[in-house]
Amino acid sequence: MAATPKLRPEDALLMVDVQRDFLPGGALAVPDGDRVVDALNAWVDDAVRSKALVVASQDWHPKDHVSFTGRGGPWPEHCVQGTPGAGLHPALSVPLDAVLVRKGMDVDRDAYSAFDGTGLAALFKDRGVRRVFVGGLAQDVCVRATVLDALRAGFETHLLVEATRAVDPSQGARALEEMQASGAVLENDRGLGAR
Ligand SMILES: [Zn+2]
Repeated sequence: MAATPKLRPEDALLMVDVQRDFLPGGALAVPDGDRVVDALNAWVDDAVRSKALVVASQDWHPKDHVSFTGRGGPWPEHCVQGTPGAGLHPALSVPLDAVLVRKGMDVDRDAYSAFDGTGLAALFKDRGVRRVFVGGLAQDVCVRATVLDALRAGFETHLLVEATRAVDPSQGARALEEMQASGAVLENDRGLGAR
C-alpha cells in the first residue's frame, strides 16, 4: 500500500553530511547518528515518487584543515577527502540522479552549511525549487547552519526532526528553537502514512 507522497516536484530533499565519521564508531560520532538513515530513506522514497530533487552534502576537508584540533580548531580530524570516513553511510538511499555537493574544501576556512560555497541556492532557483526539506547531521551544527541559510536564501524550509541528531542534545534543543524562530517548519513525523 503506497502512501500518498507528501513532497511535490518543486521540492528538494537535502540530506546533510550522513558520513561515516559522523556516525557511531566514526572520528566525530554524533550519538545515535545512524538513526537518521531509516528516516531519511523513507523521505527519499517519497521524493522519488513525487519527482522532488534529492541532494546529499558531504563535509570534504583537505588534510590539515583549519577546523581540526591540530590547527587549533574545535574538531578532531574528520571527513578527510577520499578517506572511508568521508564516505556516505552505505545504507543511505541516494538516487542516481541525486545532486552531490561538497563543502569545507578550503584548507583555511570551514563551512558548516550545505549552501556555503556550493552554488546550491542558485541550483535550486534554476530548478524551480520552492520548498527545502532538511535532515542529516548534526542538528546543532551543519543542519542548523544549512536550515538558516536556506531561510536566508528565501526558500520555505522544513526541518525533518526525526531525521536529525545532535552532537550535544541541549545544543540540539536550542538549535530547534532557533530554527523555528527563524521561520523553519519543524516536521515531527516521517511524512509517510505507510510506515
Ligand atoms: Zn568538518
